[in-house]
Amino acid sequence: MTTPEVRSDRRPRMSPKSAEVTSIMRISPDLIRLGFDCPGIIGADLPFTDHYVKILFIPQGADYTWPYDLAEIRDSRPRDQHPVTRTYTFRHVDTVSGHFDIDFVTHGDQGLAGPWAQRAEIGDTLVFLGPGGAWSPSPEYEHFVLAGDEAAAPAIFAALEALPQGATATAYVEISSEDALFDAPRSASVDVVWVPRNGATHGTRLIEAVRAGGFPEKRTSWFIHGVAEMIRETRRFLFVEGAVDRSDVSISGYWRLGMTEDQWQASKRDFNEENEAEERAASRA
Ligand SMILES: Cc1cc2nc3c(=O)[nH]c(=O)nc-3n(C[C@H](O)[C@H](O)[C@H](O)COP(=O)(O)OP(=O)(O)OC[C@H]3O[C@@H](n4cnc5c(N)ncnc54)[C@H](O)[C@@H]3O)c2cc1C
Repeated sequence: MTTPEVRSDRRPRMSPKSAEVTSIMRISPDLIRLGFDCPGIIGADLPFTDHYVKILFIPQGADYTWPYDLAEIRDSRPRDQHPVTRTYTFRHVDTVSGHFDIDFVTHGDQGLAGPWAQRAEIGDTLVFLGPGGAWSPSPEYEHFVLAGDEAAAPAIFAALEALPQGATATAYVEISSEDALFDAPRSASVDVVWVPRNGATHGTRLIEAVRAGGFPEKRTSWFIHGVAEMIRETRRFLFVEGAVDRSDVSISGYWRLGMTEDQWQASKRDFNEENEAEERAASRA
């Protein structure tokens, strides 16, 4: 019998908040850190390390601007005029001063959020739902294995900064190349393993690295997030090859190659169900 992780699901509430860009820092060739002031989060209860917001973008051609009433827009306008959401993690958050940082992957000129972050200027406004969140390192575990690409690095690093006393962690973080390192938390209990893609498809080197790390003997919690293709492989590694208890694992696709977030979110349930069916079949074989 395993003890479930400390976990609850606090989904973003439906009333949007706004924040103002107060700092802009290029932290690696692939990541821009934007700092925001947001009085709306002062006093918020944010106990998790994967707190995220749903950033709202007004679609091109829509005739409204912020501030708007989201419920009224969703009730009264066609779907293609509703704000489009993109999900991002708080890398740092201070609910006393009302400040947070988000690290945006700059993945070229496709999409909404990545390009927006590259163009952002001090004083720009960000509108979002949330924050939501679900996971933090539980003191019931002795060791943590965390893995992800750049999109999951903020949640991974926030978790490394909040490890239970005496716990150890190995974090596998995929980056485009050895030249794309950025600041990671350092401590004697933490081993950060950088995994350069060097031109390989997103996720392929990462699963190789996680697989090579094997299954630790200590009581281990797993936090694995990032590109969907890597998630499929890692689920098989954990649940079929390792027979790891599902309650010891937080795993999900944060994004998918060739899909916008809307397309990915719309297909995610099928993706998860396919994976589960394959895992059941493989476990019976
Ligand atoms: C809970 C959660 C937390 C997340 N936290 C973060 C975070 O802190 N920082 C972060 O950068 N991302 C984060 N993501 C991932 C982010 O939401 C997606 O990458 C999103 O698709 C980016 O939106 P976009 O408008 O830039 O691109 P989209 O319009 O969604 O996609 C346009 C194209 O870009 C590609 N693309 C999207 N993301 C990437 C990427 N990371 N690398 C390469 N190509 C990509 C898509 O496959 C598509 O072809 C998180 C996702 C989830 C679910």
